[in-house]
Amino acid sequence: MGTLKEFPYFIEKAEKIKPFWDGLNEESFRTTKCEKCGSLHFPPRILCPQCFGTEISWVDLGKSGTIESFSFVEVPPEGFENPYFLVMVDMHDLGKPILARYIDENPPEIGSSVVMEFEEVNGQKLPVFRQLSKETDNS
Ligand SMILES: [Zn+2]
Repeated sequence: MGTLKEFPYFIEKAEKIKPFWDGLNEESFRTTKCEKCGSLHFPPRILCPQCFGTEISWVDLGKSGTIESFSFVEVPPEGFENPYFLVMVDMHDLGKPILARYIDENPPEIGSSVVMEFEEVNGQKLPVFRQLSKETDNS
């Protein structure tokens, strides 16, 4: 069985996108931006897929978005106790959708506004979504 130590290339790449994972642990949604052409990437990149630029900076994005699509996971994978919804959310600051678990008590609706929250799994916080309530509408 191979171990991670046998794949230094992978480790080097993972180290370069570590600010993304650190950002989640700080409850920030962070991704990379190309300094040459200005495009935002998601997932984070070490090389711009638009212009192949290597001058990459990190930017914190807003956490609000709109549900574009969703799916109900009736038979959850190992580690999840109950069935859950997966939502595809068009992130307003990113301009493209990301996929994450939905934790609101009300079922998801296409077109409704949601906000990213964070849930810790094995020491790493991961993004989840909840409906945007009227009181928190200023995010
Ligand atoms: Zn670029």
